[in-house]
Order: sequence, then C-alpha cells, then structure tokens
Amino acid sequence: MSTANIYKIMDDPNSLDIDVERVRRDFPMLSQRVHGVPLVYLDNAASTHKPTLVIDAIRRVYEQDYSNIHRGVHELSQRLTMQYEEAREKIRVFLNARSRAEIVFTYGTTDSINLVAQTFGRANIGKGDEILISEMEHHSNIVPWQLLCEQTGATLKVIPFNDQGNLAMSDVEALLSERTKLVALVHVSNALGTINPIGPIIKLAHDAGAKVLVDGAQAVAHMKTDVQKSDVDFYAFSGHKVFGPTGIGVLYGKEDLLEAMPPWRGGGDMIRTVTFEKTTYADLPYKFEAGTPNIAGGIGLGAAIDYVHDIGLKHINHYENSLLAYMTRQLLNVEWLKIIGNAPCKSGAISFMIEGVHHNDLGQYIDHLGVAIRTGHHCAQPVMQHYGVTGTARASLAFYNNTQDIDRFIEALEKAKKFLL
Ligand code: PLP
Repeated sequence: MSTANIYKIMDDPNSLDIDVERVRRDFPMLSQRVHGVPLVYLDNAASTHKPTLVIDAIRRVYEQDYSNIHRGVHELSQRLTMQYEEAREKIRVFLNARSRAEIVFTYGTTDSINLVAQTFGRANIGKGDEILISEMEHHSNIVPWQLLCEQTGATLKVIPFNDQGNLAMSDVEALLSERTKLVALVHVSNALGTINPIGPIIKLAHDAGAKVLVDGAQAVAHMKTDVQKSDVDFYAFSGHKVFGPTGIGVLYGKEDLLEAMPPWRGGGDMIRTVTFEKTTYADLPYKFEAGTPNIAGGIGLGAAIDYVHDIGLKHINHYENSLLAYMTRQLLNVEWLKIIGNAPCKSGAISFMIEGVHHNDLGQYIDHLGVAIRTGHHCAQPVMQHYGVTGTARASLAFYNNTQDIDRFIEALEKAKKFLL
C-alpha cells in the first residue's frame, strides 16, 4: 500500500525542512521512558526504530492475508504473493535498478555478501586472483572474503585509510591489478561515518577489469542510492537499518552477473524442475531464494521504503547533515573528548573516546540517564587496531533525532565525566 498523499511532512514543497515532532509521533518506541527519563536513541547505526506504518503492515500480514506465497492457487496465497512482489518493485525503484530480476531478497547485508562470495566468488575467483577490500570494513565484508580465499587460494588485499578516516585514490589505484577480480567496499563506514567515493572507485575497478560489491548497510537510510548511476555490480543492505524489520535484506546484482552465477542454497522455490538425475533452476531472482522467505519482513521493508519515500531522501539527507554538523560542533566544544574519524564527508555516526574512561562504562552510565549509544569495536576490529584502541563510543543519527537529543547526550557526557574520572 502506498502512503502517497496520506503523509505530508512539508507544507512548503520547496523547503528541505522535516517536521521532526510529527515524524517522532510515528515511532511508538521513541515516546517511552528508560530508567525513568525520556529515551534519547542515538544507536541508529546498529538498528533503526520502526514507524507505525511498518508495524501495521506486518500486523496486517498475520491478521488478514497470511499464507505461504508463490505456490498457492488460493486467494490468500495470491494476495500475499502480490504484496511481496510489490515490495520487491518498491526496492527496485528505491535503488533505481533496471529490473525486479536484479533484486534478491536475503536475510540482511551479511547474508547478501556471503551469497556473492559463495556464488560469484566460487565461480570466478581462483588461486592467484585477488580480492580488494578496505581497512574500514565491517566484519561482514571481511570474513566472507577470508573464507573464500581459504577455499580458493585467492589473496585478500586491503586498502588502508589515513588517520582522518579517508581512503586515498592513489592507494586504490596502486592496489588494483589484472589479478583483482573483485573490490568489496563499504559505502558508509559504521565505525567512522566516512562516506567513501564509490563512483570513482567503481570506475577505477572496472577499468582494471574487476567487479565491485558495495556494502550499503549504513548508506541507504541516509542518502539516495542509484545503482545505475554508480554502475555498481552488487549492492547489499539490511531492512532493519532503514526502518524495516530484522531478518530481511537485499542483494542488488546486475542481471547478466546474477544470471551467470550458480545458485547457493538449494531447496523449494529456487527450482524449475527436479529429477534425481538433474535439477534446473528458477528464473531470477528466485534462483537465489530457496525456501519459504521472510514474507512479512519483505512486505514490512516495502512499507518502510514507502515511508522514507514520502519524507524524501533529499529532505532526510539535508536534515541529517545539519544535525550531524550540530552534533560535531557540540562534541568539538568538549575539550576532554576525542573524535575518532574526521573525514570531511561523513554521514550519520560519530565515534569518540574520553581519555581515562572505558567506553563500556561510559555507555552504561549514560544509559541510566536515558541515552542509548553504542560502545565497543562496532564489528570493525581493524578500525580499532588502526587507532590502537579496543573500542570507542559511537552516537549515530536518524531523521527522527533532534537537537534536544544531542543536548541531552552532551549533558549526559558531562555528568559521566564528573562521575567516572
Ligand atoms: N555492514 C555495515 C557497514 C554495517 O554497519 C553492518 C551492521 O552494523 C553490517 C554490514 C551487517 O549488517 P547485518 O547485521 O544487518 O547483516
């Protein structure tokens, strides 16, 4: 169901403002008290909250339309199949993919990357070949490639980042060679907030004859992603980081590449015919979708995309950039605090440390003041190793945050410093 025209945030269509108070009312989780005080949620890079629209869409699946999809001839199955496939179409439009065949439902970013490693990777990467990743990857864009290298004898190469948190194009160029078969790169770093220049890197990789996978887990909720414009070969993201449910994600892949890749998981729904002698496979994207999928998850993700679409990624991006600038200024004013990662192009997240205070103690202390942030290695241990730390504290934004959230966060840090130091 489209939300078009039922949700109007901007009175003036030329304004890039978001009515945050109105937005916040759409997220039931945000109005609660934690430890007796109103919640300030700044852990959006870990997972985002869900608007009522998404919760209602999932509820409707189980209350009104529930059945299994794709194989039933009865009304309920057909109704739900239609909704699931409509969600796929919404995702196609969201990413500007050419065709629905290019949108594979997975369990999340991690699952999407493993799919590419075990299908494209196994079929195209062998001994002597190289896979290029960066030093700022989430573990889910490191470990699948390490496993593939162990299985095939390929070599993993790493693009370093500088202390600011930036990759240098000269390093990318220097590390690319005719042996590079794949570049797997994060779009926005979850640990540093750096936005990587994926367009120019994709171009360099293609010129060297390599394919490119981009991990978009931290990007899609914050900026417009256009897979045709960037010419990326594979793009992965998770539903739960873009206001949708957990357990659902997406792999975009160019149709010719997906077509040529062998299936990964075998089972129902991914086949055309099965005999004991030979099995033939279903058309894209079903070839990669074995078994009963997360039906409510897919439909819930479609509703989340409707919601984001109705607010508009242009507005979201503009608003979040000003909020990030505000949070950065406030944190820079705190002289006993150090920001980790100062790339000029950042999105959503700020990692930081307070000398003499363990990040976990800090996180627990400010939790008691109602402020939820993330502490630890953020599943990016190589980033921590770069800075010689075991972990950081990280505050991360969504468009439902406001300056009052940031003021409460800064006040909580002041109190934590007095108590913990
Ligand atoms: N990549 C990045 C940059 C992330 O931030 C995350 C999650 O935090 C992931 C991948 C993995 O996402 P998921 O656990 O939803 O598969």
